[in-house]
Amino acid sequence: MNNEYLEFKTLLESIKQSGKKPTLLLHSCCGPCSSYVLNMLKEYFKITIFYYNPNIYPHEEFIKRYNVQVDLIKKMNLNIDVIMIDEDYSVYLDAVKGYSDLKEGSMRCYRCYEFRIKKLSEYASMKGFDYYSTVMSVSPYKSSKWINELGIIYQDKALFLYSNYKKENGYKESIKLSKLYDLYRQDWCGCEFSLKEHEERINNKISE
Ligand code: SF4
Repeated sequence: MNNEYLEFKTLLESIKQSGKKPTLLLHSCCGPCSSYVLNMLKEYFKITIFYYNPNIYPHEEFIKRYNVQVDLIKKMNLNIDVIMIDEDYSVYLDAVKGYSDLKEGSMRCYRCYEFRIKKLSEYASMKGFDYYSTVMSVSPYKSSKWINELGIIYQDKALFLYSNYKKENGYKESIKLSKLYDLYRQDWCGCEFSLKEHEERINNKISE
């Protein structure tokens, strides 16, 4: 375990000892990624989900993932509000301008994390949340290093909660929970470019 993760675990323990749950604005990109994180954090925080993902393409998919998120909370029997901010896809395109030709995992994704984490932090501070965090770091395809770097850069009044939910088999657990709750799990990350990359992978397999 690295130092940051140990500090994160120590913080959780001290919250438990205090008997008081701080408020947490938790960014979520989809139900499956949030499943394990919600399960893990629910006993420490009073959580509100922040569904802010203008990067998801097409818009029907954005709505579909939102509905899965809301459905998951019902299935988990949690008393959690979901704030959905529905901004135009052009917001995402502006954020990744100049990087859209790059592959998944590149600076395109850094910029995509950045504009969402910035908005998350602003909203958390404006609404008086104690902490903010994002479930995105549960995915093995997403850089926890970048997510944590950005979380700190944009920290204002609300505090950034260290985020590396891949630890302790977080990703595997999220797959198990997705099966348990019978959740729709998409095959591409979100944007049109990741959808195209996914389709290319399928076509390459068929032609092999
Ligand atoms: S692949 Fe995912 S993280 Fe990367 S730019 Fe597209 S939607 Fe954003």
